[in-house]
Amino acid sequence: MSATLIDGKAIAADVRAEVARGVAALERQPGLATILVGNDPASEVYIGMKRKQSEAVGIADLHRHLPADSTHDQVASLIGELNQDPAVSGILLQLPVPKPLNGQALTELISPDKDVDGLTPVSVGRLVRNEEGLRPCTPAGVLELLDRHNVQIEGAEAVVVGRSDLFGKPAAMMLLHRNATVTIAHSRTRDLASVTRRADILIAAVGVPGLITADHVKPGAVVIDVGMNRLESGLVGDVAHSEVKEIVSLITPVPGGVGPMTIAMLLANTLQAAR
Ligand code: NAP
Repeated sequence: MSATLIDGKAIAADVRAEVARGVAALERQPGLATILVGNDPASEVYIGMKRKQSEAVGIADLHRHLPADSTHDQVASLIGELNQDPAVSGILLQLPVPKPLNGQALTELISPDKDVDGLTPVSVGRLVRNEEGLRPCTPAGVLELLDRHNVQIEGAEAVVVGRSDLFGKPAAMMLLHRNATVTIAHSRTRDLASVTRRADILIAAVGVPGLITADHVKPGAVVIDVGMNRLESGLVGDVAHSEVKEIVSLITPVPGGVGPMTIAMLLANTLQAAR
């Protein structure tokens, strides 16, 4: 039997509607300061989507654009100014930044309480210690998809393929805090299929089209495909969707699965930061 598809577009729309209600209930309008340095076309598209969606839920658009030849000190000074500005609830530095700027060093300057991407060392520390804080948007979005489909996380065998700071590590940590038994697989994992076949919840965040085949999944598993690979044929994930969906119980499509959740969770984080 074919798996049920997880409709990330619909769930993201629900999250945005909830954020809009939360924003309307606040006494003071939250503001999101997106920072774009330079004119990378892909970054311009992403920033544009973030700005449009935040305005649509009632978050003030406090976008700042700096020229590509900005120095570290210029970007740092802008971040310092935004950290102090009470109208700014959240700050997002669009990555990558143009060379020779160091995106990680600049991100670290964002106040943890305004760190709506959840990427500063303090946010990472709060996540690891399971303290309240702002969580990275894509892993938070994946947890939201699982919860809204009532997937049992506690006690489940969860396998995350990929160990990036942006997704794999925080996703694994969030599943651990929800009492899953978590395995992180990566490029040096021996016999990947034997590891992923253990998973009740299998999450692929690799960047290799179709890496996860029918041979990699346990019948009835829940499969979340984070991969976004642009091929001539269009956008595809890390999961060989057509064969895997015949075996598993629940699966995300690409596009329309995890993708739409990232910005929705950014808005949720901005509301949380404002509160
Ligand atoms: P990344 O930093 O490139 O990390 C990729 C991970 O995959 C690494 O840990 C790497 O292992 C592992 N890997 C590579 N080849 C492998 C293989 N053959 N078998 C097992 N593991 C392998 O990537 P990322 O930033 O986490 O992104 C991963 C994918 O998710 C990309 O397609 C990206 O576009 C997508 N993504 C989507 C969203 C979204 O939907 N909004 C957000 C973030 C990422 P090593 O550590 O050993 O090198």
